[in-house]
Amino acid sequence: MVQSCMDAGRGMAARTTRSEGRMRVLTTIGEMADARQRWQERGGIGFVPTMGYLHAGHLSLAQRAHAESATTVASIFVNPAQFGPGEDLARYPRDLPRDLAQLESAGVEAVFVPTAEEMYPAGFSTYVVPEGTLAARLEAAARPGHFRGVATVVAKLFAIVRPTDAYFGQKDAQQVAVLRRTIADLNLPVRLRVLPTVREADGLAMSSRNAYLDRQQRTAAAVLFRALQAGRAAFDARAAGVPDAVCRAMAETVAGEPLATLEYADICDPDTFEPLEMLRAPALLALAARVGPARLIDNVLLRADGTWDLGTTAG
Ligand code: AMP
Repeated sequence: MVQSCMDAGRGMAARTTRSEGRMRVLTTIGEMADARQRWQERGGIGFVPTMGYLHAGHLSLAQRAHAESATTVASIFVNPAQFGPGEDLARYPRDLPRDLAQLESAGVEAVFVPTAEEMYPAGFSTYVVPEGTLAARLEAAARPGHFRGVATVVAKLFAIVRPTDAYFGQKDAQQVAVLRRTIADLNLPVRLRVLPTVREADGLAMSSRNAYLDRQQRTAAAVLFRALQAGRAAFDARAAGVPDAVCRAMAETVAGEPLATLEYADICDPDTFEPLEMLRAPALLALAARVGPARLIDNVLLRADGTWDLGTTAG
């Protein structure tokens, strides 16, 4: 029987006026407002929002922002609003000193590290709530309220930092699609820049949550990328000609790894996240799986021109 996709799921030169010096760490919105004026006088601000516990994926964003912007600003904020009850907010990995050293090496001039009280003071009651299919399927279905938290914090960070360009990873494809809509719908004056997923040598997408994995689980986690490659091969072969064959190829690959449990394997439009009814470009192959204590997501993108974005390998 053919299962539906959801069922199967069970360098540019930097400006020369940049001042090289010690990176600044700012913790309040008032400090950011004071510093911002000088940055704006120098030219564009490139912004890299993160939740910290940085890896080469985050640093690829910071390095690109640094190469392209007069001033590069990063933020480190584990945003409580995007975690659901029972999720990993309390145990989310943190290492601020190491993060700051890495950002400074990447050329970041300032890091915004607010407290939850600074971002959500008493009386806070206004949220950005994405709607429609994009905010209902896949990650949105698995994590109710997640994109409301993401869109709200990113809109706030944009208002605080006022970046010309904001850099995000393709790793979080649905987040990118939600933010693209948020920026368009609210006429936010910022360019969204999306960079490829950075992978470990065995294909595992870098993620702060990989820190939850023990050795065996870490080895097993490489099945996510293998599954995406199987999906890609099924797509390219067009054997059955329908999206279900692609989803099945991904689901069967994950099923072959006893330490992994598939949540979904899907093929959808990369902008709207509507499921594909026929194989065509552009297309996003996306999956989520649990490996031990970690819930991991990954994707590969078939661009509109028919070429694949599988990500890059670190190192
Ligand atoms: P996070 O700290 O997980 O919220 O991620 C901060 C930013 O880094 C987001 O735009 C992510 O999409 C991006 N990111 C996370 N992992 C990767 C990766 N492996 N490759 C590229 N970008 C990534």
